[in-house]
Amino acid sequence: MSTENPTAESTTTVAPAEGQRDFVRQIIRDDLATGKHHAIRTRFPPEPNGYLHIGHAKAICLNFGIAAEFTGWCNLRLDDTNPGKEDPEFVEGIKDDVRWLGYDWHDLRHASDYFEVFYRAAVKLIEDGVAYVDDLNADEMREYRGTLTSPGRHSPYRDRSVEENLDLFRRMREGEFADGAKTLRAKIDMSAGNINMRDPAIYRIRKIAHQNTGDAWPIYPMYDYAHCLSDALEGITHSLCTLEFEDHRPLYDWFVDKVDLPNHPELWKHLHDAGFRTEPAKPRQIEFSRLNLSYSITSKRKLAQLVNEGLVDGWDDPRMNTLRGLRRRGFTAAAIRLLIERLGVSKQNSVIDYAIFENCVREDLDASAARRMAVLDPLKLVITNLPENHEESLVFSNHPKDESFGTREVPFSRELWIERDDFAEVPPKGFHRLKPEGEVRLRGVGIVKCEELVKDAAGAVIELRCTLDLESRHGMPGADRKVKGTIHWVSARHGVATEVRVYDRLFNVAAPDDESDGKSWIEHINPDAKRVVQAWLEPAASIAVPEQRFQFERLGYFVADRLEHHADKPVFNRTVTLRDTWAKQGG
Ligand code: ATP
Ligand code: MG
Repeated sequence: MSTENPTAESTTTVAPAEGQRDFVRQIIRDDLATGKHHAIRTRFPPEPNGYLHIGHAKAICLNFGIAAEFTGWCNLRLDDTNPGKEDPEFVEGIKDDVRWLGYDWHDLRHASDYFEVFYRAAVKLIEDGVAYVDDLNADEMREYRGTLTSPGRHSPYRDRSVEENLDLFRRMREGEFADGAKTLRAKIDMSAGNINMRDPAIYRIRKIAHQNTGDAWPIYPMYDYAHCLSDALEGITHSLCTLEFEDHRPLYDWFVDKVDLPNHPELWKHLHDAGFRTEPAKPRQIEFSRLNLSYSITSKRKLAQLVNEGLVDGWDDPRMNTLRGLRRRGFTAAAIRLLIERLGVSKQNSVIDYAIFENCVREDLDASAARRMAVLDPLKLVITNLPENHEESLVFSNHPKDESFGTREVPFSRELWIERDDFAEVPPKGFHRLKPEGEVRLRGVGIVKCEELVKDAAGAVIELRCTLDLESRHGMPGADRKVKGTIHWVSARHGVATEVRVYDRLFNVAAPDDESDGKSWIEHINPDAKRVVQAWLEPAASIAVPEQRFQFERLGYFVADRLEHHADKPVFNRTVTLRDTWAKQGG
């Protein structure tokens, strides 16, 4: 195992998850066994209107994971059919995040690459008599659509001739009409029980610049139309999406069947000339349940609100459950993949306890992070029976369970920093650390006894004067003498002053989204989710490179901030504590 490669996860390949037997993989196995498919093709289709969050990780791991396990491929497709909200910055961010999670795509596509195909396919639908241009405005259309219990009514424009529809649609495309003045709709069934089938919109007029196509198009395809045709065009075999699209599946199939791309190369052959490899097929949509995590928000809109209102320090704020926030916080890609693998895939909606996620991170970092000593809330401890200039170099192992991590030298001297809460002047029952007249083991040094307290004018303890039992030191006859507590320390003379950002969960209730208590989710932000302290680090920790992770003994896992840490001005973020500190709070 490599010990000090902080970017290891970006270079490791994702091991195929052995034996995952969820219903999606079962469908795929069956399709391969019956010969329905010989190769598996999936895609991950985010909309570039924000950065990816932990929920997206489930869709990424599923789509890319399945492609790898069944020796197929997975495309990354930016679903950019909604201009105005989309931004090239997000496109780049999404690509980075997918790579960081450990995956690589077969082709990078944009739904907007297919705008010409969508347009030609719409013309085909008009020619086939199954699409028409409607002049009803949005409110009227809603009113005509009917409700769950009452059928819709036909628009007065529903029976326009094919010629008139072709003419109007061409003029929509040429920018002749104002936004919202006309809509191209599919002619399906205004009394369908499934409201999605009541003549859904295919194209709307929006004179707005697009992040990829600029001003080329004054009309834009609707999601339900563009998504399934993109899948079909790319030859996707299994189109995996979240449960809310279940009711859209009949429409998905309707468009795929009516357009029938595999048998109509005139609609897409020009893509080949433009350099796209594509072999259209008939995809199958399969829905799975979303990942919901307690103490978290998994909605891009709300995450954007946190950023835009300055409630966090950006999309990569370590408190955010965006992939870049989690990365900056010190979470590993391996831990995120482990979480997704453990949760499995089903159609059951549920909320995952955040503690499960943290345990995945602990499990990964316990094995992969070297140990160091740091003091976050310092109290001076002076060993009075050592000479003023006493200095030693002690050898510490870097990992208690893995010798391959090697050893390091830790400087030791007469004056040390210890954690303030490792001392109690009036100790509670069962307190095994340092107290007046009490003894404690200093990690790697020996046993000290607290002889005297030094206080400031206000009566606060500012220094402990102790004696070191020289007989209890390594190699001495009393080295095995037992005391109940062991505490860590940093040599005051050698310690490196370091900014440590002590992060915690961003929300202080398990379901911030649940507004049944009349409170907005914003009101549940945990004001203590970020605390900045001046800490002391042993020198071997401060020389870390950005993104290097350590266990600071007894405190938790920490990462050198990937943007602001420098060896001469170290900055660390707390990733997670060693144990769950939330469970006992009952919420
Ligand atoms: P949001 O509501 O946060 O904007 P979205 O579903 O609109 O999310 P997309 O960019 O459209 O975001 O999502 C890309 C893919 O990721 C889709 O296939 C979507 O189903 C999936 N996805 C999004 N959120 C989750 C989640 N919480 N769990 C699992 N998959 C998700
Ligand atoms: Mg979306």
